[in-house]
Amino acid sequence: MNITVVLHEPQDLVNIAGVVRAMANMGLERLTLVDPAEFDPWRIAGIAHRTGHIVENARVAATLEDALAGATCVVGTSARPRTAQRNYRRPRDLAARILDRARDGEVAIVFGREDRGLSNEALDRCHEVLVIPTSPAHASLNLAQAVLLVAYELFLAGAGAPPRLPTGKRSLGPASAAELEEMYRALEAGLVSIDFFKARKPESVMRVLRTIFGRTTLDAHEARLVRGVGYEMRNRVERGDAPPAD
Ligand code: SAH
Repeated sequence: MNITVVLHEPQDLVNIAGVVRAMANMGLERLTLVDPAEFDPWRIAGIAHRTGHIVENARVAATLEDALAGATCVVGTSARPRTAQRNYRRPRDLAARILDRARDGEVAIVFGREDRGLSNEALDRCHEVLVIPTSPAHASLNLAQAVLLVAYELFLAGAGAPPRLPTGKRSLGPASAAELEEMYRALEAGLVSIDFFKARKPESVMRVLRTIFGRTTLDAHEARLVRGVGYEMRNRVERGDAPPAD
């Protein structure tokens, strides 16, 4: 299945083993570790038996950006909504869509570190954010248990998945995370060039734009078009062109 579990800076090897076991139970196979505090495949295999197919193929990435570059859908996870507005979802409501997106490209589901969860910058990379409902008094789950609950919802949703919808012949498929990041950089540079931000904080404005685009599935053509809007704004200002006459 084209779903990758991404652990951002996991601190405890026992938790990695717990994640691997939960993945094996629910039929997920792809694991990427971003800058893990320790990663010892042999010890993990000793804790989570018969999971060699996951552990041996696990990828270790230096940065989250590297880990996500090829993904066309990035889903974050968080115990508690933060200050910024984001596309928060329940796993049960998003599971069918995640499976559908996994048929077009790679879906990455990102889990944060045990002590602090995902940073705002990491959550900015996520198109949507899953929140598993829990008691408000103890909202935060153990990392491996959070992975288990998300994987369980995907497993249940997979049993009744409807056949896929047709796509246009010219479709390039969904834009990858790397293409989307390039689009955001171009858009931000364009907005800087027309002095759009003024008193507004660029980071907050870009976060709102990310939240809006995160709700849609941009295909590669669409992402290039938006990127072109950003480039064109900047080019025009740099050339000092007068606006075209009507
Ligand atoms: N102290 C951290 C908790 C991190 S728990 C905090 O308050 O943010 C480690 C990771 O498990 C989180 O980053 C998230 O990926 C996942 N997780 C824990 N509880 C969750 C919940 N209720 N819903 C979704 N993900 C959760």
